[in-house]
Amino acid sequence: MAHLLSDSERAFIEKLQCSSSKSYQFQNWAGTFRCKPQYYLAPETECEVVELVRIAVRHGLTLKPVGSGHSPSDLACTDSVLLNMDKMNRILAHDAYACTLTVEAGVRLHQLNAMLEQRGMALSSLGSISEQSIAGAISTATHSTGMAFGDMSSAITHLVIIDGTGRRRECSATVDPDLFNAARCSIGALGIITQVTIQCEPAFKLHAVQTPDTLDNVLNTLDEVVFSAEHVRFWWFPYTDSVTVWRANRTTLPKQPHSESLLRDRLYGYHYYQLQLLKARLVPNDIPRITREHFSNRFDRRIETIDDSYKVFNFDCLFPQYVNEWAVPWENAADVLRQLRSWINAEERKSDGARVHFPVEVRFVRESDVWLSPAYGQTVCYIGVIMYRPYGRAVPYKKYWRVYEDIMRTQGGRPHWAKAHKMYHYDLKSSYPKFDDFMRLRSECDPNGVFVNDYIRRHILPPSEPLLTSTTVSRFLTCEKPRL
Ligand SMILES: Cc1cc2nc3c(=O)[nH]c(=O)nc-3n(C[C@H](O)[C@H](O)[C@H](O)COP(=O)(O)OP(=O)(O)OC[C@H]3O[C@@H](n4cnc5c(N)ncnc54)[C@H](O)[C@@H]3O)c2cc1C
Repeated sequence: MAHLLSDSERAFIEKLQCSSSKSYQFQNWAGTFRCKPQYYLAPETECEVVELVRIAVRHGLTLKPVGSGHSPSDLACTDSVLLNMDKMNRILAHDAYACTLTVEAGVRLHQLNAMLEQRGMALSSLGSISEQSIAGAISTATHSTGMAFGDMSSAITHLVIIDGTGRRRECSATVDPDLFNAARCSIGALGIITQVTIQCEPAFKLHAVQTPDTLDNVLNTLDEVVFSAEHVRFWWFPYTDSVTVWRANRTTLPKQPHSESLLRDRLYGYHYYQLQLLKARLVPNDIPRITREHFSNRFDRRIETIDDSYKVFNFDCLFPQYVNEWAVPWENAADVLRQLRSWINAEERKSDGARVHFPVEVRFVRESDVWLSPAYGQTVCYIGVIMYRPYGRAVPYKKYWRVYEDIMRTQGGRPHWAKAHKMYHYDLKSSYPKFDDFMRLRSECDPNGVFVNDYIRRHILPPSEPLLTSTTVSRFLTCEKPRL
């Protein structure tokens, strides 16, 4: 595009250049998707974002903001203009009475946790990590767990978005409510979010207790288990009937932080496990034994922690991985898990059957009014499956994903937006009551397709929609042939 830019546009772009290297390559955290943007820019102000959108419209370019690049899909990929939002990480307002904080959209959750702590506040619920940017997290309805707790999108009370015409639009429950309900989880399709106001609560400590149980016990009493604490999640260990149930409640008891054991958690649970999984690429039939071993050595015991909320919500997600996660109406969770267990056990009986990694993670999220939240109109259970990539190496996962997705689909499932999945325009239209309204707003907010990348085109747009911007290409890295 350089030769098409005016001198002033070129000077503006050069000022925002993020990487001096012309060959900058973006790669997501798991190393599963990458792209080579033509420009990698870091705007610092809303005015700069507006100007970038206008330049993109004039030259038929695609813009993609990226947060921390943690989405395990090509959601944030573009070969056109990638916007690093890290410099837009300032606090804009603090309302102690309403317990809200207004921040720029590029702020990372770990920065946000610290900002909140300094002001005696905290997020009501938080997922497994705090690496994400707040805009990236809400754009995909990132969630934690708790029947009375919504996803992160539902904690937003006001936001500002620069749409695809360069217009600055503010919205809240009372100002442009349709845009508000669409933009709070908009997977980057409506515009660039520049600021958000987050509903928080006074800082609190969590008392978390992790206990082993059996899967049947938990599934047979699920309607009691999910209400047995404010925040409940469990991990099932395939090839065993064992689960670890994690329950956490707000407390005023003194802190009792979890101290990681160097031997058990770091050397055995991380390094040795990664080595075992590397070896299991050649001998997959070892995987059930490895799982049983890790359950009895690391998880078959009670663990109790009392600490600041964000420290207790977060945990070590180990090394890069393929993940898939869908939400089903929570009443269907037990059926899903029983079906998944039957399939995994049947595969284990075949010498060349699929072998899967632990854990299967199960979490619960309150019903939401955000149009594209997987929890829209229904309290859901998110069930996540994982296949680790030891030392960044590919492992077979496609057969597992196929069966898992079939089960989730038949149980009324909706995929987590950040993950690679196989729901397309017409599937989404029948799954989300407000999908048509979202599409109407998308056409209004982005008439020129400035925010359309491969992911948006593949999953969101109807197959007939013409291309208005230059083609973007993101490439799937894992080209080794899976054995399953
Ligand atoms: C180890 C790990 C643990 C995770 N744990 C959880 C969990 O517990 N719960 C859960 O629900 N998910 C979890 N996730 C998924 C993660 O929360 C989502 O992928 C989230 O979107 C990542 O945020 P990000 O800042 O990296 O966004 P990116 O991946 O960089 O971007 C995601 C989307 O947001 C868009 N975007 C980014 N900034 C803006 C902006 N300013 N305006 C408009 N659009 C924007 C991007 O264009 C893209 O479409 C996890 C992922 C990993 C790798």
